[in-house]
Amino acid sequence: MGLKICVFEGDGIGPEIMAPTQQVLDTAMAKVGAAPLSYTAHPAGAGHYAQTGDALPQASINAARASDAILLSAMGLPSIRKPDGTEITPQIELRFALGLYAGVRPVRVFPGQPTPLSDPRAAQIDFVLIRESTEGLFAHMHEGIVTEVDATETLRITRATSEKLFDFTFRLARQRAARRGRPARVTCVDKANVFRAFWFFREIFHERAQAFPGLVTDAAYVDAMAMWMVQRPWEFDVLVTENMFGDILSDLGAGLLGSLGLAPSADIGDGIAVFQPCHGSAPDIAGQGVANPLAMILSGAMMLDWLAGERDQPVLSAAAQMIENAVAQVVAAGQAVTADLGGSAGTEACADAVMAAMANA
Ligand code: NAD
Repeated sequence: MGLKICVFEGDGIGPEIMAPTQQVLDTAMAKVGAAPLSYTAHPAGAGHYAQTGDALPQASINAARASDAILLSAMGLPSIRKPDGTEITPQIELRFALGLYAGVRPVRVFPGQPTPLSDPRAAQIDFVLIRESTEGLFAHMHEGIVTEVDATETLRITRATSEKLFDFTFRLARQRAARRGRPARVTCVDKANVFRAFWFFREIFHERAQAFPGLVTDAAYVDAMAMWMVQRPWEFDVLVTENMFGDILSDLGAGLLGSLGLAPSADIGDGIAVFQPCHGSAPDIAGQGVANPLAMILSGAMMLDWLAGERDQPVLSAAAQMIENAVAQVVAAGQAVTADLGGSAGTEACADAVMAAMANA
């Protein structure tokens, strides 16, 4: 039997982008001669919460734990809220439940891809943002103390998670350097000028870097980084940061690509990982068949690449590469462009173009 994939179709555009992604993955697996993936869908999300009062059933968490990898589209709907006014966030709770501390958000411009920046060097944008995903300002989410006169939220950074996060980041930087044939540079993004917790974070970054000789490391304040990501994003290689900063900067990264619809991601823990696009459930376009499926498809490719290493099946890396190449080809050719990028193609036409590009590979 093939590898077991736990699927969360989620809310809004979630099911619309999940179906073509599975088709693309199946095609790639068949083309490299790998056994078909075995998908099982499990309930979670705003729709499930509205029906049952439970956004993330324990059985779904158990199924995720028992799978080889988890594929998730997007969850949440602004119209469905808890009594305290906040939204349900099972996609975040899953990161906590499974210990997925490393949120990997690649920001790469494919050759020939238009970007919102007019500088020709924008064609060289190729960095990855690692967002710590189980603590920081999210550590006590939903536990904020709100009174008539004030509101308090807590930021928590632990040595244990920070060490794992930085070790993961340095290993990934080495892997990127080997694949790209260029030296790695890792930048810690924080607010260590003002907050002691971020000085603690930065010190652990420098401590752990000692175990990875040969990497160039530096640190930057998050406010300056937000500006540099617009002014000279082509200079960065690997950025690592706290949860909330990463949440915000990863959307800035997606903006550099022209749309959230092109931004994939992975949430990785020890031997377990969730793959999902950076975007949400896009309720404003749900049900119309116009969502861009490429971020979800690229997240599926990241899943195959991760499984290749975890399950020692190098052929899955070839399948991942085949999908990435097909997406790059479609984007560069300006084929089947969806509305978020200024075109008029629907979800299906865009996914079909990727399938056609794979057929010719
Ligand atoms: P969003 O990412 O859903 O949408 C932001 C904008 O980008 C919208 O205009 C939307 O139409 C567009 N967009 C997003 N994905 C697109 C795609 N694939 N193709 C074309 N256009 C796309 O963010 P939001 O509107 O702030 O949030 C909507 C819901 O999603 C909320 O309930 C939020 O809590 C939830 N959310 C979930 C996740 C997740 O599951 N990981 C992440 C962010 C937001």
